[in-house]
Amino acid sequence: MTAATSVALGLPRVRSARPATLRDRPPVPGLIDSFGRTARDLRVSITEKCSLRCSYCMPVEGLPPIAPDRLLTASEIIRLVRIAVQYLEVREVRFTGGEPLLRRDLEQIIAGCAEAVPETPLSMTTNAVGLEHRAAALAKAGLGRVNVSLDTIDAEQFAALTRRNRLPSVLTGVKAARRAGLTPIKVNAVLMPETLSGAADLLRWCVAEACHLRFIEAMPLDADQQWTRERVVDAAQLLAALRQHFELTSIGRENPSAPAEEWQVNGGSATVGIIASVTRSFCRDCDRTRISAEGAVRSCLFNDSEHDLRTALRNGATDEELAQLWRAAMWSKPAGHQIDTAGSALPRHSMGAIGG
Ligand code: SAM
Ligand code: SF4
Repeated sequence: MTAATSVALGLPRVRSARPATLRDRPPVPGLIDSFGRTARDLRVSITEKCSLRCSYCMPVEGLPPIAPDRLLTASEIIRLVRIAVQYLEVREVRFTGGEPLLRRDLEQIIAGCAEAVPETPLSMTTNAVGLEHRAAALAKAGLGRVNVSLDTIDAEQFAALTRRNRLPSVLTGVKAARRAGLTPIKVNAVLMPETLSGAADLLRWCVAEACHLRFIEAMPLDADQQWTRERVVDAAQLLAALRQHFELTSIGRENPSAPAEEWQVNGGSATVGIIASVTRSFCRDCDRTRISAEGAVRSCLFNDSEHDLRTALRNGATDEELAQLWRAAMWSKPAGHQIDTAGSALPRHSMGAIGG
């Protein structure tokens, strides 16, 4: 038997090793799973293409291209975002990829979503290459803010890590985002052993540019499957390296489901976050749901099962039918990953393919 106890809202908090079946799911509108979590934060991947080739993410040749007829169109994306908000109680939407700026119709997607769900914050995770040319139009279309992925401000380290010489474009893109009001800007950095020496300079740059920097432990989500636990720059190593240059005071998390633990820098107003995704898993508080560029629900980064929505979408399903498929997909979300445990199975898909 499944062990279940009631909590506020009357949702069961299942703690059994056996996954609950769909018949056990209470008839509530939101994206609940059988472990008592509710997903309210939607990540929508809109392309597999990218302008960089970060070694912890993409293969040298890029991901295999998605055939155009398999990629969700702008109007399909807008419809799914509307269903997520109107039927499934999603509260914020982030566009990602691959690199979202490589979709020429990005402004159209943003404008359509802003019109369909005007109260819902829309943001984007981007490498910022070329953002300088589009920041103003994206803000005008209704984009609220950006998270920029930038791992180093050393041009040589950047070129080696991303296999592209595009640091100047990224730095200009960040400034353009600020001018366009796409703020507050968060900078996400994944460190590798060879870029750890640049961590302090990156933090100094972010403090000077009023960007909130968050370091993320590298997860086994690289397409080349070269990840090893030994090559993860973990939170403890990073803190030790930063403390040689800064006084850091722990201030905890913004809220319990926030993945980053925050540190005050030199007693001032600036903070730096560390997302210890490998060494301190936050799966228990995960509130994410993901749609792939091909229109499948992914309930968890570390679970390879995908639940197709595109077929139903193109076969005339109603909004409620699509919502119901999405609810079923999320109900079976696994408890979490065990990356830090020797012998645990690693996912087949890379971050760039899933949408980080
Ligand atoms: N191209 C965009 C960018 O880089 O911001 C959006 C897609 S990218 C897959 C989203 C985020 O995933 C980036 O912040 C990137 O650093 C992160 N990421 C990619 N591979 C990762 C890995 N193996 N471990 C941890 N984070 C990873
Ligand atoms: Fe591209 Fe982003 Fe992956 Fe880097 S992390 S290769 S920018 S998708």
